[in-house]
Amino acid sequence: MYTSLKAIKDDISVCKKCELCNTRKNTVFGEGSPSAEIMFIGEGPGRSEDELGRPFVGEAGQLLDKMLASIGFTRNDVYIANILKCRPPGNRDPLPHEAAACISYLRAQAALIKPKIIVCLGRISAGYILGREIRISRDRGVWHEAKGFYIMPTYHPAALLRNEQLKKESYADLKNIKAKYDELHTKER
Ligand code: URA
Ligand code: SF4
Repeated sequence: MYTSLKAIKDDISVCKKCELCNTRKNTVFGEGSPSAEIMFIGEGPGRSEDELGRPFVGEAGQLLDKMLASIGFTRNDVYIANILKCRPPGNRDPLPHEAAACISYLRAQAALIKPKIIVCLGRISAGYILGREIRISRDRGVWHEAKGFYIMPTYHPAALLRNEQLKKESYADLKNIKAKYDELHTKER
């Protein structure tokens, strides 16, 4: 059990639980508000993230910033992290044993941040978080309730860069996420 995000970050910075430790330049812990009500979860660092040690700072990250802005958020209002904290060589998909080794860090982050909403960016993230095979075009936009979180899979920004036509559904999901956020706030008052 971790009692601070710093303690998790320190462990990740020296982690050797899987062989991705041999090829990483930097670990990518995650960033944003430590009391964020929404977490956005990607699959793992790409080249830019590995270089800089920060999540979603490449092209897909710039689009994620715009997606956040479209519903009135900045990076500082939410928390952004990944299933894997080290880059898979050549940006290949995470191997199941790598995700299994790494996901306990994400669980620890979520246990301390205690978001109300978890947004899974893409098939890989949604698959590991929901624990089943996901087809993102079929399964996006649907709320799941588990372990006290509202969880929604939606498209990864990299998918939107490859196929502009997905942006309409993506924006519908973002509005749905914002509506859930507003609803949860109203209930608290
Ligand atoms: N893609 C991801 O899934 N995560 C990042 O941090 C960057 C790109
Ligand atoms: Fe450790 Fe995760 Fe990096 Fe593997 S990917 S070495 S489990 S921090």
